[in-house]
Amino acid sequence: MSIREIHQQLVRKERSATEITQAMLERIQVLEPKLHSFLCVTAEHALQQAQKVDAKIASGEEIGLLAGIPLGIKDVICTKGITTTCGSRILENFVPLYDATVSEKLLEAGAIVLGKTNCDEFAMGSSTENSAYQVTLNPWDLERVAGGSSGGSAAAVATAECTVALGTDTGGSIRQPASICGVVGLKPTYGLISRYGLVAYGSSLDQIGPIARTVEDAAILLGGIAGYDSRDATSLKVDIPDYTKSFLPELRGKTIGLIQESFGEGIDSDVEQTINQAIQQLEELGAEVREISCPHFRYGIPVYYLIATSEASSNLARYDGVKYGFRAEDSKDLQSMYIRTRSAGFGTEVKLRIMLGTYALSAGYYDAYYLKAQKVRTLIKQDFERAFEQVDVLVCPTSPCTAFKVGEKAIDPLSMYLADIMTITINLAGVPAVSVLCGFDNKGLPIGLQIIGNVLQEEVILQVAYAYEQSTTWHQTTPSVI
Ligand code: GLN
Repeated sequence: MSIREIHQQLVRKERSATEITQAMLERIQVLEPKLHSFLCVTAEHALQQAQKVDAKIASGEEIGLLAGIPLGIKDVICTKGITTTCGSRILENFVPLYDATVSEKLLEAGAIVLGKTNCDEFAMGSSTENSAYQVTLNPWDLERVAGGSSGGSAAAVATAECTVALGTDTGGSIRQPASICGVVGLKPTYGLISRYGLVAYGSSLDQIGPIARTVEDAAILLGGIAGYDSRDATSLKVDIPDYTKSFLPELRGKTIGLIQESFGEGIDSDVEQTINQAIQQLEELGAEVREISCPHFRYGIPVYYLIATSEASSNLARYDGVKYGFRAEDSKDLQSMYIRTRSAGFGTEVKLRIMLGTYALSAGYYDAYYLKAQKVRTLIKQDFERAFEQVDVLVCPTSPCTAFKVGEKAIDPLSMYLADIMTITINLAGVPAVSVLCGFDNKGLPIGLQIIGNVLQEEVILQVAYAYEQSTTWHQTTPSVI
């Protein structure tokens, strides 16, 4: 059921929030042995929250759209009293003393938190294979990955283990798993969603955002978490519209730019073909489509892997075994305690990135790597600024390939990094983008169309995504595993 369908059932008293929550918890129990999308399920907490919503309804109080909606929260987002591991051994037993702003907002709105979803360690990865605990599998083919780093959220939503979920996106971690699990994922404008209580990876890139089965559900969840927060210094002071208000069944008057550089070498031919069909569909809906060049698009990967790792090396310095989290026992002195704690607590990919970032920031290399990367980041941003002088939105594939097999890219970091080639520049530019299901490859694996907008143009990208979705039946297809 969609958010609106659940809402109607609740207000008409056809089903209670408790009944819905119980049904979802049972579903999780059945599906989890196959999928591994949740790191923890918070049944008791969820049922308590559901009772509160039921009591409200019984007393005749009006409830908002998110009240009674069962959802999952990616395990890098703090939840008071509920473990928040970031998919890492170093935070295995970490129970936050406070809620992230987004968690607080959702709980206040009466949403039901079913549990914390699996992710790559500290959100570093594109497959959830870097989780220290489990690999989330793709609901369309259990031999394949669900994408990452928000793979748990995407797989859980795709199989209706929860109605919607929160993911985070530093270089593509909402959109890429959404794309390869066949659902909708939106990375908001940098600053639209508070990062307070989000465990930092690359602070100048990180954003929290919705994963949902329909564009409307994504829009509703986005509205529920967006807004200014004084506890995040980069939070934007803007009014939050009703993101579903501007939905229309057609696209007359809209101009759409096709990013030239996103096609050609390195793209699966099935992906390219399917995206071309989706573009035709956008034209049939009345949009005017033209090619746009983003000349610095190809520098996205090197720039990102300097900036994100530099920020990560600094952000992850706090896991030293002193303040919180894991501490190696029996160290002979402070220095060896640090070394042993971090050696045992972090996984290989996280260590690789800390080393890369430390190197890029070190004296003598700073100008050549970090500073240079920041300059190219500005050029990438300017590409987008110029593009949005000419068109309303840009489109390209979300991922160059469909879901890959577990283990297929795990041994080769570079091939894994290339999974984000389509999404990464968007984070560097700080603009919003949404991925929507637009077809399947010859193996029956989902393909996502990415729709990118100018700063704070979430309404516009959602409008295009909605018109496209409603003119197709893709979103009604369900994965074979369920
Ligand atoms: N896959 C990219 C990385 O490993 C992006 C991750 C993300 O968006 N959190 O850094």
